[in-house]
Amino acid sequence: MSELQRTRIEPSICPFCGVTLELATGRGVPEPGALSVCSECGEVSVFSADLTHRALTRTEIEKIMANVKLSRKIAFFQAYSKPRRDASALN
Ligand SMILES: [Zn+2]
Repeated sequence: MSELQRTRIEPSICPFCGVTLELATGRGVPEPGALSVCSECGEVSVFSADLTHRALTRTEIEKIMANVKLSRKIAFFQAYSKPRRDASALN
């Protein structure tokens, strides 16, 4: 994953923990429909048409869970979210 880069985005609120998200890590600038893992709470949201974050629908969650490759990718990013970092610091 050497092509990952950090991109400054329009500030948007995480629909789960309420933190303001201002950076996106990925390949290039995020587009509507791109998934996002919150660095603060580790929850997965999606960029909406105006590039704010919204929670996934049940159907979207089911599609992701059926996609092994995508699920692994999400787990990779979640490993760097704050709750996971805190948990691994205890071990
Ligand atoms: Zn969050």
